[in-house]
This record gives sequence, C-alpha cells and structure tokens, in this order.
Amino acid sequence: MSASLIRSRALVTHAIDRHHWNEIANGALVQEDGIITEIGTYAELSRKHPHLPVIGSGNDIVMPGFVNGHHHVGLTPVQLGSPDMPLELWFVTRMVSRNLNFYLDTLYSAFEMIGSGVTTVQHLHGWLPGNLAQVDSGADEIVRAYEDVGMRVSYSFAVRDQNRLVYQKDEDFVASLPAELRGPMQRWFERFQLSLDDYIALFESLHGRHHHNKRRVKIQLAPANLHWCSDAALGRLSDTSTKYDVPLHMHLLETAYQKEYARRRGGCTAVEYIDKFGLLGPQMTLGHGVWLSESDIGRLAETGTCVCHNCSSNFRLRSGIAALNVLEANGINTAIGMDEAGINDDRDMLQEMRMVLRAHRVPGMDDDVPTAAQVLRMATSGGAKTTAFGDTIGALEVGRAADMVLIDWEQISFPYLDAEMPLLDAVLQRAKTSGVRATICDGEVIYADGKFTKIDRGAALQALHLDLQRALSDDEVERRRLSKALLPHVKEFYAGYFDPQQHQPFYRQSSRI
Ligand SMILES: [Zn+2]
Repeated sequence: MSASLIRSRALVTHAIDRHHWNEIANGALVQEDGIITEIGTYAELSRKHPHLPVIGSGNDIVMPGFVNGHHHVGLTPVQLGSPDMPLELWFVTRMVSRNLNFYLDTLYSAFEMIGSGVTTVQHLHGWLPGNLAQVDSGADEIVRAYEDVGMRVSYSFAVRDQNRLVYQKDEDFVASLPAELRGPMQRWFERFQLSLDDYIALFESLHGRHHHNKRRVKIQLAPANLHWCSDAALGRLSDTSTKYDVPLHMHLLETAYQKEYARRRGGCTAVEYIDKFGLLGPQMTLGHGVWLSESDIGRLAETGTCVCHNCSSNFRLRSGIAALNVLEANGINTAIGMDEAGINDDRDMLQEMRMVLRAHRVPGMDDDVPTAAQVLRMATSGGAKTTAFGDTIGALEVGRAADMVLIDWEQISFPYLDAEMPLLDAVLQRAKTSGVRATICDGEVIYADGKFTKIDRGAALQALHLDLQRALSDDEVERRRLSKALLPHVKEFYAGYFDPQQHQPFYRQSSRI
C-alpha cells in the first residue's frame, strides 16, 4: 500500500455554490493507493498517522487537480505554421502540420498542463492519417504518453465521415476546384481512410485495451461536429455511447457558419438536430456552443447536457463570445477547455481560468458574472463530469481520487496581501505556473519543484526538436502548397454563406450576458 499525508496552508476542497467554497485552514488529507481516505487539519492527521510520509511544506494552497475539458494537440498550430484565422479558414491552414511523433508531441503539452495544475485531460484526437491499424497504433502512442507522464486522460478519436474540409461534400468541393488542385485535394482526403465501421471498431479496440483495466485512462466517444458527421454516424455514436455507457464530446456551434450549416441541413438549430438522435443528456458535452440560441440553452438545461467553454480559442479564431453567464443562470454544467492553445499560446490552466473569470464581466451590478467559486467548479468538478472519470475525480473528498495541485502561497501573497482578501479570489487572480509547487495524480507526485518525476522533460523536448529537424517529406511539401492555393477558394465558398442579420449572436441583444 502506498500512502501519504498531504499538508497545506489551506485546503480548498470544492466549490459549494457560486460564492462559497469549502476551505480548511492548515488542512491536510491522507491518500492511500490514490484514493483520499481522510480529510482534516494537519495537526490532527499527523498525530494520528505519525509515520506517513508528508508532502507539502504547509505553505501551499492545496486544491483539486484541474481538468482541461477540451484538448487536441501538443505543438500548437502557431508553432506548426498556422496563424490564427477565422475557424473555417484556419482549418485550411492546419493542413501544413508536420508529420509528428505523436508520443513526444503529446508529452509536450502534457508538461504544460501538469505544470499549471492539470491532472486530467479530455483528449479529443482530431486527425490521424492511415487505415484502422495505423490509427489504432497512433492512438496508443498518445495514450502511452499520458500514462508515462502520469496524468489522467479521457481519450476519444473524433469521428468525421463527411464534409472534411468545408461544409460541403468532399467530392463536390474537389469538383469545384481548378483542375490543378483536384489531384492534391483528392490525395489529402485519401490520407484519412477510416469508414464509419472503422471508427466504431477503433473505439471498441481502444476501449477494450484501456478503459477498465487502467486507473488513469478512459476511452470515450467524440462526434467531431455536426457538419463532420452523417446521420448514420450520429445514430451509431448515440447507440455506442449507450451500449458502453461512455460519455460523448462534440464540437457544436463554434461559429455562425456552423449555425447556418445546421439550418441548411435540417431547417432547425444544431441542438434540435442532434436531439433527434438522442444525443442530448448528461452524457453529452458540447464543445464551444458559442452560437446557441436561448431555446437551445433551455433544451440543454432540460436534458442535463454539459457545455465546455473554450474561452481563448473563441477569441483567437474569431468565433465569438459564448453566453457563459446565461448557461450558468440556467444551471448548465460547464467545463473549461484550452482547446489547441490558450491566449498565451500555451496550456496554462491558471491563465485560462482567469480568462473565463474576466471575459464575461458585463456592465451592471447583478450577480450574473463569473465568480471565483464558479470558475473553480468549472475547472474541477464541472470538468470532471464531462469526462469518463465523472465524479470519481474533481473534488478533495473522502473516496475520490487523490488528484491535486499545491500552489505556493508566498508567490500569491508576498510582499503583502490584505488578510481580509478571500483566499480563492487571491489564488485565481494571482497564482502563476511558477508558483505550482507540486501536481499529484492518483496519489503520485508527478511534478514537483519544476521537475517531472516520471519523464525527463529536457530529453523529451530535445528528441521532439531533433525529430523535426528532418527535411520536409513530399506529402508535407504538397500539403503546404495545397493549403496556400486553397485559401481563396475556401474564402469564396463561404462568401455570403450566412446572413449576418439572421445570425446575430443573441448575447448582443441581452443584458444578461
Ligand atoms: Zn476543439
């Protein structure tokens, strides 16, 4: 049995409501084999367990480990040559991505997440070329990276069986291009070979290998987005989620173009459309949801559907501002996702939590803007509910997983902090990654004092660097040329795609946002 006593200056165990959280001064907890078995004060628990190894100096704030509710890649799109653009054009610029070593790439962003207190990630794997066997082994490389670094992953491989570049059939888009681009475009589509049956087989294979026999790995489902999924795919994914009792995470209504796409496809909203397939409910999390209507939000509340708020990404890709305050007022469970990268082009959860705290501070005096307790809940128990780990993580509570972050109080409070300042406000407003003293997952210290305990960060990053020094391959060169040449055609495809009068974000008309 492996057990330890984790000591704090203050233990913030969980958010109680929008304005309150449970805080134990000089708190401590005992974990045995990764599960919290006792919570109390350090004085009391150290008397009771004098021989347990103690983690923490007593100068740290100990909080539940954070959940990054929406994540895709290691090196960021900017690092790989794709500047920020409106989402639909950015998809085209993403074609320039190098052929990456998935294991090292995944470690890169895992280091950033863990260094900012994240212990669980919702990894939505987007694109991986090849046939079923190749995709299956690529997926395993990603899972292996998380296992080796020690954090929890709720892994899914996003299902896309149509409209893979623009909101139109692949063959129609190819046919619309000038003759010289049709071959390269066709070859790009042909890189991705999975049929709908293959996607389901991939899920079953990964689920069989990882889901039940590993504490830090879960496998779930991800319909990539409405435009990317045929009706057949939506139906199969809904059935598969029920059959295996696993959650789903689906990008939805990230942009106004996607809202219009749903109208054209079904004469209804995207939420109404997926509702027909039984896809709403607590098992479903919608990523982004920037262009939800008020009635959509009502339906999400009624069904218990969750939303993952990707604040930085929404700013960076010109998606708009999600109606977070309305989601909160309707009691919808929300998570925080850093998506491809946060506002500083990294995966800093402390910064992203501050973004969420700041971005929705509308004028007025009503209690309708994000609070510190709300943001803590979103980043911990709220996020947890959107993963396959559910309520086994996300709060420091007896019986839950011993996942936590230790944040140096001195960094927050030196040279002065008024004693009346609420502790959680001070942490959320002021904590920086340099103040993260330790990150613990499943009772194991995976990061302490700037070092990863299970993997040599320097060696892994050097290997990633060296791997990318190789010359561009023929397919990489072709994709670069294609991406540049396609941009004007994709712009043309979306010109006048939606009527701005018809697709006003409703938050502009509402004082509640
Ligand atoms: Zn995403």
